[in-house]
Amino acid sequence: MTTFELVNPATAEVIGEVDHSDAAAVDDAVAAAQSAQRVWAGLAPAARAGRLRDFAAAVAAHRDELAALEVANSGHPIGQARWEADHVTDVLTYYAATPERLSGKQIPVTGGIDITFCEPIGVIGVITPWNFPMTIASWGFAPALAAGNAVIVKPAEWTPLTTIRLAELAEQAGLPPGLLQVLPGRGDVVGEAMLGHRGIGKIVFTGSTTTGRHVMARAAESVKRVTLELGGKSANIVFADCDLERAAATAPYGVFDNAGQDCCARSRILVQRSVHEKFMELLEPAVTGVRVGDPTDENTEMGPLVSRAHLEKVSSYVSDDAPVAFRGTAPDGPGFWFPPTVLTPQPTDRVVTEEIFGPVVAVLPFDDEADAVAIANATDYGLSGSIWTDDLSRALRVSRAVAAGNLSVNSHSSVRYSTPFGGFKQSGLGRELGPDAPLGFTETKNVFIAVSDGEGKP
Ligand code: NDP
Repeated sequence: MTTFELVNPATAEVIGEVDHSDAAAVDDAVAAAQSAQRVWAGLAPAARAGRLRDFAAAVAAHRDELAALEVANSGHPIGQARWEADHVTDVLTYYAATPERLSGKQIPVTGGIDITFCEPIGVIGVITPWNFPMTIASWGFAPALAAGNAVIVKPAEWTPLTTIRLAELAEQAGLPPGLLQVLPGRGDVVGEAMLGHRGIGKIVFTGSTTTGRHVMARAAESVKRVTLELGGKSANIVFADCDLERAAATAPYGVFDNAGQDCCARSRILVQRSVHEKFMELLEPAVTGVRVGDPTDENTEMGPLVSRAHLEKVSSYVSDDAPVAFRGTAPDGPGFWFPPTVLTPQPTDRVVTEEIFGPVVAVLPFDDEADAVAIANATDYGLSGSIWTDDLSRALRVSRAVAAGNLSVNSHSSVRYSTPFGGFKQSGLGRELGPDAPLGFTETKNVFIAVSDGEGKP
């Protein structure tokens, strides 16, 4: 067992350390998960629903503790961290309804009856990133548990604390021991062992597209099921006919929330040429007005980047001769701070094509609707995006034409627990959240029952 130091991103101070699991721990965890899953699947649906509601209540009761942990470990502003803890409660509450509603079908056939069952897969592996540790973990474990599975979560090395606490709360709330386990550790040790383990039937992975490709390839060795939520380079398309003041006032929050460490960040703002100048005039005060600072301050809107290594990566995109239009502010001193930054680059620059995962946005002009759609789609990613227009027909046309899984018109919303979330193209595979997510953690079993004609004939 090795230990790993955890650092507060706002102060660069060490806040503690966590024991890292090794590959052998994965074997033990899978064995424990398999027996817990048998207990869990044997409970009455109403009993499983009740335990999940109790788990949701435990998360609600520890909301402030979880939020404080996320502030310290991830540097999230306190208001955002509370929202994240509440979101976990909501996700659990939503999927607590599943055990009593996960019904199969009765299909008309000749000679008998045919019914389908939604059988749990068994043990699910959830590998999470560091940008939204507890919410993303819950998108995997809540529907998976609700569908009758056990879950093993490997959190990102930098940000394991809230996930560890959630698993403790699950057990305290009455979930069978071993049903939800957390194995902190390295991706190339614990993550790899999970990918190779025959006792794990599905991997839910969120992270970079590069690692996602590797996860998919390794999953193929044992035909593991996979859900992948990967990177993004989403477009915020601003048409001349929109409420330009609102589009400009909200644009910073569409990309700088969570310091831009968001797979849905609208990191390319496409503005119709006829209003480009006016938009930039309106955008500047909105960007300089973003309150960047101490995450424990109730008024803070944007905190630091997650780590020194990530700060170095983000900084590499903004060299001294970068086409900076304007920047917001960020604290001096310790911590991994980077100010909101607006660039006006050429369409081929790497800041336009690569996921930066920091508070850096590229503004590009376009001529007409076809041009806007072409630029928006000129990426291997396809996760999210926004469309600003007061023309309803255009809003629908462009929504259908942009190749991305989650679009919002005249807003920047991406994630609701009750609606499906996931990416087109290299932004992912499969969907999380929404009413159908539990089905992604089941196998369909078909059973035909012959019915005799009552005269002894089959
Ligand atoms: P990764 O995709 O490498 O990490 C995501 C998770 O996968 C972590 O838990 C990581 O563990 C784990 N992992 C890493 N390697 C393996 C492996 N071989 N087998 C199994 N699991 C593995 O992302 P990074 O943290 O390196 O971030 C790099 C970039 O990825 C970011 O700058 C950003 O552009 C993008 N990203 C996108 C996210 C999204 O939500 N779409 C989220 C996070 C990052 P460990 O912590 O040990 O590395």
